[in-house]
Amino acid sequence: MTHVKLKNLTLLLVLCLAACAKQPGEKKAEFFVFGTLLEVTVWAADESSTNEAFSDLQNAFQEMHRDWHAWEPGLLTEINRGFATGLPVLASPSIVEMTRQSQQVEKQSGGRFNPAIGALIGLWGFHTSEYPVQGPPPRRSRIEELVHLNPSSLEIQIDGQEMSSLNPAVQLDFGGIAKGYAIDQAISILRAHGIDNAIVNAGGDLRAIGSHGDRPWRIAVRDPAGGIIGTLQTGPDEAVFTSGNYERFRQDNESRYPHILDPRSGWPVQDVASVTVITQEGWLADSAATALTVAGLDDWPEVARSLGLDQVLIVDEYGKAYLTEKMDARLTFVEGVTKEIVVF
Ligand code: ADP
Ligand code: MG
Repeated sequence: MTHVKLKNLTLLLVLCLAACAKQPGEKKAEFFVFGTLLEVTVWAADESSTNEAFSDLQNAFQEMHRDWHAWEPGLLTEINRGFATGLPVLASPSIVEMTRQSQQVEKQSGGRFNPAIGALIGLWGFHTSEYPVQGPPPRRSRIEELVHLNPSSLEIQIDGQEMSSLNPAVQLDFGGIAKGYAIDQAISILRAHGIDNAIVNAGGDLRAIGSHGDRPWRIAVRDPAGGIIGTLQTGPDEAVFTSGNYERFRQDNESRYPHILDPRSGWPVQDVASVTVITQEGWLADSAATALTVAGLDDWPEVARSLGLDQVLIVDEYGKAYLTEKMDARLTFVEGVTKEIVVF
């Protein structure tokens, strides 16, 4: 374990139990994972259970970072090498589960969410933690080449813990689902320690369980233009995820190429600024938000229905909000937002 800790110096744990506690009864810890700060807040939990849970979380996040990384050498890059050479590779229970979940979302979103396009994401220069990426987009012919190889997670065969691919172009990149899955794992760990009231929050992408004492947890929904677009109170077990095209992109003079790609064309999605999804589990909220960003302003209602979602908010490039009735009932917008309720 020690060498792993040393290797992942970017992985930092800031435990600030008493120091960060904003109110009596609240305890917080921060973790740095997948290039994101992840904040865990628990309410009314026993002190020693909380400490043990935070220590287990630290180990779990470290393992995830190591095993799921799309470009730093680790288990996932090894699996991708196996796919390229046609050899079966021993995966891990979490990678197998995330692959199955991804297959379901790829199928139900008509291929708009596709975690097998790792090569395309790499070609665009998005296998980096340094944003914005600078310079012109890749050559059109190279993009077309990769799209025509038709990588799909549905070509991955799973046999117990072993995975192989029928298509050597399949390269897994869990960037659109891993944060959600990690937050689900974190909630399971907290519950295993008897903690029933908590929020696990990665920069506005979160899952909340229980409540904050005698009131629900209150959370903010990010505005793609900066700040927040609204607030809501979470139910007893809910995940709220926003996929945005505003933080991570390639900049080429005046042109911006955001990091969410349409797997069918190989080009970034431009007309949607952000999509927010509320559902119970993090993995679904996260991957669905990515899928609906790709679906865009015309197709999102149909894809949301296919994914079984009814609480969706989509913001276009001009800042106009479109949302389902159920989302409208949940969200209190800040002043000045133009909204349109979409019945579906
Ligand atoms: P964010 O990380 O900003 O919340 P997402 O959850 O939508 O955004 O994840 C975006 C990441 O997902 C990209 O950086 C890339 O790794 C991956 N990705 C990009 N396009 C797709 C796609 N169409 N399907 C699945 N994963 C994608
Ligand atoms: Mg996502």
